[in-house]
Amino acid sequence: MSGKRNEEASKAAFEEAKHYLPGGVNSPVRAFKGVGLTPIYVERGEGSRIYDIDGNSFIDYIGSWGPLIMGHAHPEVISAIRKTALRGTSFGAPTLIETEMAKLVCERVPSVEVVRMVNSGTEATMSAIRLARGVTGRSKILKFEGSYHGHADSLLIKAGSGVATLGLPDSPGVPAGVAANTITVPYNDLESVKLAFERFGEELACVIVEPIAGNMGVVPPLAGFLQGLRDLTTQYGSVLIFDEVMTGFRVDINCAQGLFGVTPDLTCLGKVIGGGLPVGAYGGKREIMDQVAPSGPIYQAGTLSGNPLAMVAGYTTLKLLTPEVYNQLEERAARLQVGFEQNASELGIPVTINRVGSMVCPFFTSEPVINFDTAKSSNVDHFKRYFEGLINHGVSVAPSQFEGMFVSAAHSVEDIDQSIEANYKALKNL
Ligand code: PMP
Repeated sequence: MSGKRNEEASKAAFEEAKHYLPGGVNSPVRAFKGVGLTPIYVERGEGSRIYDIDGNSFIDYIGSWGPLIMGHAHPEVISAIRKTALRGTSFGAPTLIETEMAKLVCERVPSVEVVRMVNSGTEATMSAIRLARGVTGRSKILKFEGSYHGHADSLLIKAGSGVATLGLPDSPGVPAGVAANTITVPYNDLESVKLAFERFGEELACVIVEPIAGNMGVVPPLAGFLQGLRDLTTQYGSVLIFDEVMTGFRVDINCAQGLFGVTPDLTCLGKVIGGGLPVGAYGGKREIMDQVAPSGPIYQAGTLSGNPLAMVAGYTTLKLLTPEVYNQLEERAARLQVGFEQNASELGIPVTINRVGSMVCPFFTSEPVINFDTAKSSNVDHFKRYFEGLINHGVSVAPSQFEGMFVSAAHSVEDIDQSIEANYKALKNL
């Protein structure tokens, strides 16, 4: 597609949806409110592409916001879901696939000896925080500005992602008493973490961190940052939680903790481990996880947790993720980055591209982006026009400057090159 996408059907569908869903959607960023456009109504996806109800097709770098690392409707994943569904969709009783899945996660994630499956990333982080508070007997938690860990009350404080896009630093409905227990400091700023520990040390139950921030755009940890968090939390008897909902199995077969060689006490997972079905998980050291009900007193439960369809979709996806797949992701994503950088420099547009493996983010700023403040120095108006140009040239990315692009194993070299061309046209029209 080039020029202008057809959007009549999507427009009508959105108007209809607004009568019945808040803002027409079931999750805010999908409404394209931040970019002031009509959302793409997806009809189907296959491999690297999505097809909308207006007859447009797009090379897709959203991938359901991260889960679809193998691409849309991967034949093996779909076949596993189909076979499983024929035997029943949910039992609320143990099934063998739950143990298989847990075993695989424990084998691959360095910090995880025992894991509990839940239904979303939000549930994973919320439950991990309850666990950290339960085992330490402390109330306060420390998070980083611009990090998003789902929409639980205690985590909707200076959050990134859709909250950053909509400009709501806090949400009404989060009690002041809850917010008071969440301490926030800038990402990559170990000195501020140190000061927070000096001030609140004995009160901090945990530090929760995205080991690669992915909700203020993509922001890698500076050298020593994660290890510094490890050292400080150990010193103060606080629980270190890596929120790997986005990075888990996205950046490495052993997740970001394997990539950086820093092992947290608890890890939250989601997205990729569900292979496109609703899943989350939290896990860690046995001595901590044994405090979770029914082996311990800290309560957490779920009617659909460990659901056979989600388990088999995730298990099949994880089994497909070989070292070769990660090598290919690295190569294709690097090609995309270099192409985008060349385009921007040829056109004289200030762009800083951050990338870790298949997570890529072009920021419209010439500054290095190391935290939320520097991410916010991006020219959001440029982003909006760039975004519109991209979708009009058949490339789908998240409708926000504060989200990354996800390259999948289904993106071919041709897809990447076509995307670089679309990028050039979109930048040229700024
Ligand atoms: N943590 C991180 C790092 C995330 O990126 C997200 C979602 N984007 C969440 C938690 C919340 O996950 P979910 O949307 O599945 O509740």
